[in-house]
Amino acid sequence: MTGLNHATTGIVIALVFKRPELAIPLSLLSHFLLDMIPHSFVPLKRKKLFTSYLFIETVLMLTITVVCMVAFNDMWLLIGTCAVVAFLPDFFWPFYYNEKLRHVPGFRSFYIFHKRIQWSETYRGWLVEALYFSVLVIFLATHST
Ligand SMILES: [Zn+2]
Repeated sequence: MTGLNHATTGIVIALVFKRPELAIPLSLLSHFLLDMIPHSFVPLKRKKLFTSYLFIETVLMLTITVVCMVAFNDMWLLIGTCAVVAFLPDFFWPFYYNEKLRHVPGFRSFYIFHKRIQWSETYRGWLVEALYFSVLVIFLATHST
């Protein structure tokens, strides 16, 4: 799943659950659940496309997080934390491709788990991503605290 969908899911979880002891662990759990459903991917072989994709995604993630933090300002810390936690496991992808780190025992197990749950990555996964993102945006646009 894209980082944008992960982070936006974290924001929605923060707004729904409102309590950090629930929202933060659920945001982390949501990352792995979303990675298990069919979603898109950009092959690492196409580095220029991948770099552009990461840049656009980062800008969108930061924009939607800041907008939500301003719009729902009484919950800004929880929203920001949940957005980051929901995306966090994907932050490690560049490190997975480092041969030295890949062989560190705990890190290697996590890499294998994270890779295996993404069995359904496909080019057509963009449709699922776009539909899911639309649902999240509709929720945010109609939600009030
Ligand atoms: Zn992931």
